[in-house]
Amino acid sequence: MGILIKALALNERVRVYLANTVDITNEAIKRHDLWPSAASVLGKTMTIGVMMGAMLKGDEALTIKIDGNGPIGNVIVDADAKGNVRGYVGREHVHFDKKNMIDDVTTLGCNGYIDVIKDLKLKDLFTSSIPIQTGDLAKDFTYYFAASEQTPSLISLGSYFAVNGFAEVFGGILIQLMPNATEDDINYLESKVELLSSFSKLLTTYPQQENILKLIFGENFHIIETKEIQFNCDCSKEKFAGGITSLGKEEIYDMIATDHKAEVVCHYCKEVYHYNEEELKELLKYAKGNNKNEIN
Ligand SMILES: [Zn+2]
Repeated sequence: MGILIKALALNERVRVYLANTVDITNEAIKRHDLWPSAASVLGKTMTIGVMMGAMLKGDEALTIKIDGNGPIGNVIVDADAKGNVRGYVGREHVHFDKKNMIDDVTTLGCNGYIDVIKDLKLKDLFTSSIPIQTGDLAKDFTYYFAASEQTPSLISLGSYFAVNGFAEVFGGILIQLMPNATEDDINYLESKVELLSSFSKLLTTYPQQENILKLIFGENFHIIETKEIQFNCDCSKEKFAGGITSLGKEEIYDMIATDHKAEVVCHYCKEVYHYNEEELKELLKYAKGNNKNEIN
C-alpha cells in the first residue's frame, strides 16, 4: 500500500499530487518478475497513472498505453479514482543501464506514442494520443499535459533499487498550474526545478511525504486529501469465464476434447485461473454456436 497526497499550494493557484509508490512497484516486480529497468518504466507509468487517477471521481477510470518501439514492448497501466492501479509490460526480462544508472529511455524506446484513454462513464471513451518526445516519462507526460490537457505541469519521478532487484524508494510529484496562476508562481516553481530533479533523494531524505511539500512550498500549502493507493486487479474466475464463453461453443468443445481443462492467466496481475471439464461444460450452455451433435 502507498499514500497519495493531494494538496493546493501558492494560495491555491497550484495543485499538487504526491505519491509514494514503492509498495505498488514492488508488488508489480513480484507478480511479473520484472528486471530493474522494466520495473522502473512500469513503476513510473503506474506512479503517473495513480496521480492521474486522483484527478478522476466516482467510478471513472483511465488507461495509459505506451508503445515506444523499445525492448520492453507495450506498457499498459489502468488506474481509477479509488487509488487502484495495475499494469503490465510486453517483456518483463529487459534491463539496460548507463553509467550504473537505470536507463529508462533505452528500455522504453522513444519512437512511438503515448495514449491516454479515459472512461468518464459517458457514452464514449475520451482518448488522446501524443508522440513520445524523449522516452523520459516525466518529460513526456509534462508534454502530454501541455498538449492534450492545456495544463502546464511540472513532473518529477524518482526510484532507487536495492541489489535484490526490489525498489527501496519509488514515487513521484505532479505540480499543475491552475488557470489563475501568476508569472511569480511560474518563477517560484522554476526555482525549485533543481531541487525536484533528484526526487529519489527527496524520497529517501523525507520519508514523511508532507515534509517534501514543506520543503517546496514552505507553509504556503494545504493538504486536501490523503488516500491509500494500491496495486489491485479486479480480475476474477467469473470474469474470465465470460471470456471463455465468448470464444464460442466450437472452441470450448475443442478445449474439452484436447485438454479436458483450461487455464487462463491475467495479463495485469499474473493470477492463474483453472477450469475443469465440468466447469467448461457448464460454460457451453452460455456460449454461442452449434452444439456438438449439430456440428457433425
Ligand atoms: Zn488480474
